[in-house]
Amino acid sequence: MIRSFYPPQRTLMGPGPSDVSPRVLAALSRPTIGHLDPQFIVLMDEIKSLLQYAFQTENELTLPISAPGSAGMESCFVNLLEPGETVIVCQNGVFGGRMKENVERCGARAVMVEDEWGTAVDVDKVAAAFKANPQASVLAFVHAETSTGVVSDASALCQLARDNNALSIVDTVTSVGGIEVNVDAWAADAVYSGTQKCLSCIPGISPVTFGPRAVARINDRQHKAQSWFLDMQLVMAYWGGGSKRAYHHTAPVNDLYALHESLLMLQEEGLENAWQRHELHHQALVAGLEAMGLSMLVDRAYRLPQLNLVSIPEGADDASVRQALLADFNLEIGAGLGALAGKAWRIGLMGYACNQQNVILCLTALESVLSCCGAKINTGVAVTAAKSLY
Ligand SMILES: *Cc1c(COP(=O)(O)O)cnc(C)c1O
Repeated sequence: MIRSFYPPQRTLMGPGPSDVSPRVLAALSRPTIGHLDPQFIVLMDEIKSLLQYAFQTENELTLPISAPGSAGMESCFVNLLEPGETVIVCQNGVFGGRMKENVERCGARAVMVEDEWGTAVDVDKVAAAFKANPQASVLAFVHAETSTGVVSDASALCQLARDNNALSIVDTVTSVGGIEVNVDAWAADAVYSGTQKCLSCIPGISPVTFGPRAVARINDRQHKAQSWFLDMQLVMAYWGGGSKRAYHHTAPVNDLYALHESLLMLQEEGLENAWQRHELHHQALVAGLEAMGLSMLVDRAYRLPQLNLVSIPEGADDASVRQALLADFNLEIGAGLGALAGKAWRIGLMGYACNQQNVILCLTALESVLSCCGAKINTGVAVTAAKSLY
């Protein structure tokens, strides 16, 4: 017989989704109202201004796309690109590859700038790509690569795009709320994020923001955007039309209560405090993992605090360790991807999940499971090492 679904109580320390704050879950269960209700319009305006804070921007065209981060990505490409254009795409992990796929589906040409997985985008290589392709109209890159735990220099890359008369498309799905994102200081043109990483919110919504140059490009399009649902000209009339909002699609009303609550929590904490919290718990986690004898795979200079790549020690089987963590400790961590599959785990410290209790839980659980399976680690020292940071 099929019954109501009650999920197990997990601790989510993988690459996303991450733990959702109980405040956000409570907001989600409030009564649904109509998406053109005057009270809902007030909520939409507040969400817009809270998103402007999270992105550090005054861009008017700042709103949540009613679909996951991947749709935010797609909305940037389908609105900014026209067939036949050239786009420089940086790839140093999984998500750059998806950008290429988006470019090609828009009928544009992707010039790839590839860097080894686990390293940052090389700004000099991007400069060389612009020299070789002066007609390039867009530069696309991932700020925080969740597949490898690496941050790239968004400020320098956006500047390079401007210097070459190109627009920038920036993936900040994992960065917003976890490390500094400053859309206006970077002068980034089209930026998308997600709710399920460092915003402590449910999966399924994608905040986006478009600057004045991107809006001009959207308004000057020769061809209609290939996607009806993600066409910003239509979405703008819904989100930006003041009291005369035109029906486009039914907003996910309760999901937006959740987003509003999570953004309010971020504003209450303050962006700088949130970034510092991610850094502190990251330092403590790393101290514990290293004391255990495990090594971090990403160079300190471009490590993401919210996504930690740690080597799998000799004698440990990747999948069975993760299964044991889930079965015995209700703890989820992420597997390695691509070249790093079987070699590394990805431990997330994102948003609400980024706290001292989870750092200690993760170290304790990992130590227990690894010593049971006979892996070579130092026991009895990890938690003390982590606590020295608190
Ligand atoms: C998670 C993620 C995405 C995709 O977001 P979804 O919500 O899974 O669609 C895109 N880019 C990066 C860097 C991500 O980490």
